[in-house]
Amino acid sequence: MPLSKAAAAIPLVPAGLDRAAHHRRDPQWLEAAFNSENARVLMMHEGLLLVEGSAPPSAPLQIGAPLPSGRPLLWLGPQAGMLSPKARRIFLGETEKGSPVFALDMPSSFNLDSSPISGLGVFDDFRTAASSLDAFNGGCAATARAIFEWHRRHTFCSNCGARTRIEEAGWKRKCDDCGVEHFPRTDPVVIMLAVRGDKCLLGRQKVWRPGFWSCLAGFVEPGETIEQAAAREIREEAGIRCTTKADYLFCQPWPFPSSLMIGLILEADNDDITVDQCELETARWFTRTETASMMAGTNPDAFPPMPFAVAHHVIKAWLERS
Ligand SMILES: [Zn+2]
Repeated sequence: MPLSKAAAAIPLVPAGLDRAAHHRRDPQWLEAAFNSENARVLMMHEGLLLVEGSAPPSAPLQIGAPLPSGRPLLWLGPQAGMLSPKARRIFLGETEKGSPVFALDMPSSFNLDSSPISGLGVFDDFRTAASSLDAFNGGCAATARAIFEWHRRHTFCSNCGARTRIEEAGWKRKCDDCGVEHFPRTDPVVIMLAVRGDKCLLGRQKVWRPGFWSCLAGFVEPGETIEQAAAREIREEAGIRCTTKADYLFCQPWPFPSSLMIGLILEADNDDITVDQCELETARWFTRTETASMMAGTNPDAFPPMPFAVAHHVIKAWLERS
C-alpha cells in the first residue's frame, strides 16, 4: 500500500534510507564502509543529538509546550571513529546514492568541548532537534535513538541474567551463557480519536500545561488487535464504547524509548463520558468548529499537540474528512 500524503508529512517517518540488512553480518564490509570517505556518521550522547552550530543547547521540552525551531544534524565523516574508542556503533543503512550511514553513541565520559570537533556542533535535546528534520535525517535520528536506548536497557540477558554482547552491526545482542539472541523491540501504541457525528473526544492529563488537549492513547496488550486496543483504551479512560468502526490512518516511530504510534479514528456509540481519573484529568467532546479553531491557533482556551506528534495529524485527518 503506498504511503499516504499525510503519512509522508509526519516527522520521524523515515525515507531515503535503505537499511541494507544483508551487510549487518559482514564485519569486513562494515569496517571498510565505516572508514570510507563517503561514510556519513551521526552522533548521540546520552540521548542528545549532535546538531550544527555553537549556540547553547535547548532546554528539555515539556509536554504541550511549543517547540523551538531545531537545527540541522551535524553529519561527520569516517574521522568520527577516532573521537572515542568506547563509542557504540550501529550501521543504519545506505543512502539512495549508496553512502553507508552509521550512528555513534558516545560514552558518558566524552567531552565535546575538548574534542577535535569542538565548536562545530552541540548535543541538543532530541525532540527539539528532531522536530524540524526531514524524513531522511529524522528517520536516521529516530532509529539511532531507539536502538541506543535498547542497548542501554538490555546489557544483561532477560533469560539468565548474564551479560550480553552486541552483534550484527548493533541490531542484535547475544548471550554466550545460555545462547539466547535478543533483538530490538518496538512497542505498539494506539493513539486515537473517537468521533460521534460532528464532534470528537479529546482528553488531558494533570501534568500537561493548562489548555493542552490531545487524543487518547495506550499500549496494545498481548492477545488483542490494534482496533480492539483502541476501543478498550477509550472505554477504560473515558467510558465511551466504540464497537462499530475503526479506521487505521498512519503510524509514526516514536523512540521514547521504543514505541510505534498507530493513529486511528473510531466511531463512538454513546455520548456520556466517565473519566478514569487514574489515567486522565478530564475528557470532553469538541465540536468540529471548536477543533478547527484549536488547530488554527485561534481558540484562546485550548491548544492541540504540535505537528511533531502524530496526535496532531490524527486530529487534522478527521477535520479534513468531508
Ligand atoms: Zn542468557
